[in-house]
Amino acid sequence: MTKLSKKVLVAGGAGFLGSHLCERLMNEGHSVVCVDNFSTGTAVNVEKFANHVDFKMLVHDVTEPLHAEVDEIYNLACPASPCQYQRDPVSTVRTNVIGAINLLELAKKSRCRILQASTSEVYGDPAVHPQPETYWGNVNPIGIRSCYDEGKRCAETLFFDYHRQFGVDIKVARIFNTYGPRMHQHDGRVVSNFVVRSLQNKDIRVYGDGSQTRSFCYVDDLVDGLFRLMHRPAELTGPINLGNPKEISIRQLAQRAIDLTGSRSKIVFHPLPQDDPLRRRPDITRARADLDWEPIVGLEDGLKRTIAYFEKQLAQDNSAVG
Ligand code: NAD
Ligand code: UDP
Repeated sequence: MTKLSKKVLVAGGAGFLGSHLCERLMNEGHSVVCVDNFSTGTAVNVEKFANHVDFKMLVHDVTEPLHAEVDEIYNLACPASPCQYQRDPVSTVRTNVIGAINLLELAKKSRCRILQASTSEVYGDPAVHPQPETYWGNVNPIGIRSCYDEGKRCAETLFFDYHRQFGVDIKVARIFNTYGPRMHQHDGRVVSNFVVRSLQNKDIRVYGDGSQTRSFCYVDDLVDGLFRLMHRPAELTGPINLGNPKEISIRQLAQRAIDLTGSRSKIVFHPLPQDDPLRRRPDITRARADLDWEPIVGLEDGLKRTIAYFEKQLAQDNSAVG
């Protein structure tokens, strides 16, 4: 008989995506063990269920082995914003590689399923557009983004080797740019930067000429995709792309943030960082077919919800200062 209520470990559960995943799992009636070292995540993200009997917070670095009795594992532990993962690149590689080994060992010992939050960055600066899962990518192995890109690629390798060598039950999701409430104000990624600076009427910094593209997925859609993947039969290991296929240039995104906030901000241009991918859009044919999934929240709606969140955050900051 299938156990209805499970004990689920979410590594990186106090981060942006992880906290939404914890919430979804709690709402589905599962108990959650949130493992996080609070390097980019915060206790505030999970404070609404902190005292719940079915929620346990474990402050732990995944580069150290961990012992727990759990039924399922999601591995989201890793800084995701370029400026965060480049701050201590060696630690980023360690988190991706040693963290993956430690969690895979736990899955092997507990004979439980484990899902890896991989990334569109495994495709690097893609020469194929849109990117299907069959594309092997175009990654600089020695650049400033490599600690993340190659770290995540190695983690995928480990997942598939643990699967082939030890029969570990794995799922691998390749997540494309996702945004929404609970991104950190100073996270450094484009949506939070543009929304926060628009709300503050500060200059919006577009890197390069802003013609580079991304495809932005709202967090609720993404979490639903992860949840569906976790519950598909064992043969469906992935990798599977999860993201919104609607592509937009960064310059257009800046204008959208200004328009939706009614801001007086101006757009200013700064140099494009090294190896910044020029185009990115997921091919989600597999996710549609295998998960019966596609995003339902459009960019305008998602941005409005994100703006409402940051308006509240900034108002709280102001009242704390005042
Ligand atoms: P985030 O930075 O908000 O969350 C990462 C969480 O992992 C944080 O809570 C952080 O404290 C924790 N963490 C980092 N290193 C750790 C360690 N060594 N031990 C324990 N905890 C650690 O980022 P996010 O956007 O929520 O991303 C979550 C996961 O999804 C990451 O693995 C990221 O690579 C992946 N992902 C996210 C996106 C996106 O657009 N949000 C896209 C692709 C992949
Ligand atoms: N970007 C920008 N201004 C910012 C932050 C980011 O122009 O304040 C650009 C960045 O150079 C990249 C895109 O927006 O081309 C997306 O950046 P982000 O850091 O969100 O994620 P990435 O997809 O590059 O990992």
